Amino acid sequence: MPDRYAVFGNPIAHSKSPRIHALFAAQTRQDMRYDAILAPLDDFATAINQFVAAGGRGANVTVPFKEEAFKLATTLTPRAQAAGAVNTLSFHEGTISGDNTDGAGLVRDLKANLGFDLAARRILLLGAGGAARGIILPLLEEHPATLIIANRTAAKAKELAAAFGIAGGGFEALAGQAFDVVINATSAGLSDAVLPVPTFAFAPGCLAYEMVYGRETPFMQQARAAGCRVADGLGMLVEQAAEAFYAWRGVRPESGPVLAALR
Ligand code: NDP
Repeated sequence: MPDRYAVFGNPIAHSKSPRIHALFAAQTRQDMRYDAILAPLDDFATAINQFVAAGGRGANVTVPFKEEAFKLATTLTPRAQAAGAVNTLSFHEGTISGDNTDGAGLVRDLKANLGFDLAARRILLLGAGGAARGIILPLLEEHPATLIIANRTAAKAKELAAAFGIAGGGFEALAGQAFDVVINATSAGLSDAVLPVPTFAFAPGCLAYEMVYGRETPFMQQARAAGCRVADGLGMLVEQAAEAFYAWRGVRPESGPVLAALR
């Protein structure tokens, strides 16, 4: 019997994780099976417990269950603790370990795939939801010159920024500041909504990173028009999966060929 893993979400049919992990497993010759499981909106815990009882070894968790996974875990990594959310669970002799690999995935995509070092850079983070919270600690660990949060609801940005000892507020608070990296961690792109990012925020030679993938969003168009280099979030998706795979199997897959296959 191959070792069992799965991604839990609702909806889940669109998930690329089964394909990514199947490619990792084939590449590293791991005997494992990885499914997509639709968990009921009101009973995520039972879905996980049933999977563990059936021999499940680990799980990825996506929208809308990352906070519930955080509560379900019996131990947490420091980066999961800082994120307040869990996207990777490991099951071992009655314990449930919770990790969050999203931030590490983003940083690895920026550094290894896009060749963009974050040290001493000015970073603007757009959004103050779960995705934004999950990447702040890994970004700060890269020692940027500044990391500032801007969000539609200014109070949420202020509260999130305060938790990490950095600055945050509404888009209007950006007054005159320019950034080397602008990371869009809002879901605005999913509905083609335009963000009120002022053009001066994009410094010459900047990198604009859109965490949404699979579509050209208004943010990407805006950043291109401002002269930025633009990347979407597919690399982050593959890299967060690679980090989870490594946590489960102790083998680090090569993400480049998998990213190329998905593109
Ligand atoms: P949340 O629902 O927790 O947060 C949504 C954020 O987007 C909030 O800051 C919200 O602002 C903002 N927002 C939504 N609509 C608009 C709009 N029309 N204009 C301005 N701001 C808006 O979502 P998540 O943080 O979990 O996810 C955010 C995005 O990141 C998703 O699109 C998701 O697909 C992507 N993601 C990608 C990953 C990858 O691997 N590439 C991994 C994880 C997430 P407000 O507070 O004012 O409501």
